[in-house]
Amino acid sequence: MGRLCVICDKERAIIKRPKTGQKLCKECFYYVFETEIHNAIIDNKLFKKGDRIAIAASGGKDSTVLAHVMKLLNERYQYGLELFLLSVDEGITGYRDDSLETVKRNQQQYELPLKIISYSELYGWSMDQIVKEVGLKNNCTFCGVFRRQALDRGAVILNVDHIVTGHNADDIAETVLMNILRGDIARLQRCTEICTTGDGCIRRSKPFKYTYEKEIVMYAYFKKLDYFSTECIYSPNSYRGHARTFLKDLESVRPSAIIDIIHSGEAFEIKKEVKLPTQGVCKRCGYMSSNELCKACVLLEGLNRGLPK
Ligand code: SF4
Ligand code: ZN
Ligand code: ZN
Repeated sequence: MGRLCVICDKERAIIKRPKTGQKLCKECFYYVFETEIHNAIIDNKLFKKGDRIAIAASGGKDSTVLAHVMKLLNERYQYGLELFLLSVDEGITGYRDDSLETVKRNQQQYELPLKIISYSELYGWSMDQIVKEVGLKNNCTFCGVFRRQALDRGAVILNVDHIVTGHNADDIAETVLMNILRGDIARLQRCTEICTTGDGCIRRSKPFKYTYEKEIVMYAYFKKLDYFSTECIYSPNSYRGHARTFLKDLESVRPSAIIDIIHSGEAFEIKKEVKLPTQGVCKRCGYMSSNELCKACVLLEGLNRGLPK
C-alpha cells in the first residue's frame, strides 16, 4: 500500500480496516479502535466513578485486548474505575492451565489484582472429570452454565458490582443468528443488550459490542500483546461453529453484515401478549433461575447421580 492514511494524511497507510475498508496508519487505527470502544462505554453510561470492575480474563485475544484497553481508557479519560482480573479455571489440562499462565503474565504487565476461581472448588468437578463422565457431546453445555455462575461467584468474592467480558460484535451477531434459528425469543431480546442485570445480581457489560473480531486480532498483533491462541481441546460446539462459518461467509461478501445482524437483533420486539419466563431463585443454591433449580444444580444433580455414558 503506497498511499497515505485517510485520517492523518501524513503517514503511510499500512492497515485496511476490516469494518470500514478505510486505509489507515497504525497510530490512527489504534486511535479509532480505542475511541469507538470509549464511545460505546460513554453512550451507554456503562460505568460511574468509583465502580469496582472485574474483567473476565481467559488469556485469549479478546479478554487480553479488553484488559489492555480498559486500563488505557480508564487512565486516558479518568473513568475513576478500580479494575480487577477475574479468571475461571475450568480444569482442562493442556488448555486452561496454559492460558492461565498468560493471565498471570497479564496481571504483571497491567498491574491488576487477579482472582482465579475453579470449577473443582465450586462444583466438585473439573471439566476433565466431566468429559470423562459425559463424553464430548454436551460438555460445552456444562461448561457454559458453570462458567456463568462461576464469574458471578468470583465477582461476589472480589466485591465488585460489575463484570466486563470480551464478547465482540462477531460473537453477538452469531448469538442473534443462533437464537433466531432456535426460536429462543427470550434470549433474542436480551442477547444484543450491551449491559444486562438480573434481579439483585451483578451487572455484565460488553464494551466490544461493536468491535469486529478481525480488528481485535489486528490490534493485539500490532501492539504485540501477550495472549494465548490455542483452541480448547474439548471444543466441538458445532452449532455455534456453523453460525460462525455462515457469518464469516456473509462478512466476506459484505463487511457490514456483522453490524447489520446486531441492529436487526436490537430491532426485534416481542408482542406484549407473549409470556416470557419470570426470574426467581434456585431453591438449592440461591442463584437466579426461572425454574425451581438453576441450570447448574440440575446438571450437577445428573453428574452426581452418575449419568449414563
Ligand atoms: Fe468449555 Fe466448551 Fe469452551 Fe472448552 S470449548 S472452554 S469445554 S465451553
Ligand atoms: Zn494516520
Ligand atoms: Zn442452583
